[in-house]
Amino acid sequence: MRGGTVAVVGGSIAGCAIATAAARAGAGEVVVLERTRGRLEDRGVGLCIHDERAVELGASGALPEGIAAHPLRRRRWVVRDDADGAGGAGGNGGAGGSAGGRVIWEQPFPFHSYHWGLLWRGLRASVPDSVVYRQGETVTGVEGTGTAGAEVRLAGGSVERYDLVVGADGYRSVVRAAVCPESRPHYAGYVCWRGNLDAARLAELGDAADSVPEAVTTVCFPGGTCVVYRIPGPTGPRVNWVLYAPPPRDGQLRFDDPTSFPPGGLTPELARHLAALLDREFPPYWGRALALTDPADTFVQPIYDLEAARTAAGRLLLAGDAASVVRPHNTSGAAKALQDATALADGWRRAESFEELLCGYEETRGAAGRELVALARRLGRAQVERTPAWAGMNGSEMEAWWRGQLAGAPGIGGRAMTP
Ligand SMILES: Cc1cc2nc3c(=O)[nH]c(=O)nc-3n(C[C@H](O)[C@H](O)[C@H](O)COP(=O)(O)OP(=O)(O)OC[C@H]3O[C@@H](n4cnc5c(N)ncnc54)[C@H](O)[C@@H]3O)c2cc1C
Repeated sequence: MRGGTVAVVGGSIAGCAIATAAARAGAGEVVVLERTRGRLEDRGVGLCIHDERAVELGASGALPEGIAAHPLRRRRWVVRDDADGAGGAGGNGGAGGSAGGRVIWEQPFPFHSYHWGLLWRGLRASVPDSVVYRQGETVTGVEGTGTAGAEVRLAGGSVERYDLVVGADGYRSVVRAAVCPESRPHYAGYVCWRGNLDAARLAELGDAADSVPEAVTTVCFPGGTCVVYRIPGPTGPRVNWVLYAPPPRDGQLRFDDPTSFPPGGLTPELARHLAALLDREFPPYWGRALALTDPADTFVQPIYDLEAARTAAGRLLLAGDAASVVRPHNTSGAAKALQDATALADGWRRAESFEELLCGYEETRGAAGRELVALARRLGRAQVERTPAWAGMNGSEMEAWWRGQLAGAPGIGGRAMTP
């Protein structure tokens, strides 16, 4: 198929990749409508892509070369070692305990980590010049579930008409509201605290619990987990952490409605809650490491997931988080968004009509999204909602526990695209 006009709503990871894919596949005119003015701000900073997905996405052109990435090879699961709950002076200080915690299991972790802002800048730079990337454009609604093109309404009141509108507008997508209004985000019942700090600051802790830069550490505690890993940064390596736990029960915050608490920085009450959690549950080294995070680089957000009933309708199509919101335990959000773009480009080259394109996209990407959501729900249940008695588990019990979560899936990080 050649020619045709395309509007992409949202110019983040999925939006940049979709615009590039559509332009390269032969669309006549591609416009990105992004509500943010200026540079998109980082919001949590770290993300990971599975090595096999990265190879596949590099070959399809969806993941441009040259974007800084840090190799991660192993994942260590650690518990607070209560033989030394108060913390030894060194990495292995105390009465048989370790300030870094006790390793209960280690598994391969074939991923690379990225800095969100550097990944976005790499994707933005590879958007072809023929694409018009318009910032400060908020889309307030779309229409186009029939077969006669689609309309986009902008905040200023104007209406624009396109052959195809792609919703790459994230978890609160306005395009999804037109494609499948019945699909709503579902609150997982817990929150995620995230932060990042200059990796050089770990030297202040004076011990070596993080001496393996290629290892991811997952701190396990009753009712939650925290994943800590290194990422590249604009001015040097950083440490990124993501901590899942039940919500603070102070009665002031509501998390069950996606509009009630957008991702944001900490109030003094939330900062106190986090500090108490680190002190109570974490191995001393990791509690102190996370406490080095600048409050301005610490965020909290409720965890949602969403299984869209459809990813395409008429002349509307959904990509990235707009199509499915997957709990982050699966480490698949960015890879999935780039796979959606690859699928769009492949479909565009093969299809002879928009109907054929949208039908083929729904068949492949709808199923992929639903599978990711289901897997991440199982991971969230096992790692946050119904945590096992970690401290008593050995390596083979951990392995069986992990296989139970996968329930036959080959692993986390998303699946290979079917040819
Ligand atoms: C600023 C930002 C920072 C992020 N930082 C991280 C991170 O550090 N780590 C991580 O794992 N994930 C991060 N994410 C999420 C991650 O990018 C996504 O899970 C994944 O990459 C898929 O992204 P997406 O492009 O589908 O959705 P999103 O990244 O959510 O992008 C949606 C885009 O659509 C725009 N938009 C939304 N509604 C409208 C509208 N009505 N009109 C016009 N534009 C609209 C938004 O401004 C945004 O740019 C971040 C997302 C954003 C927006």
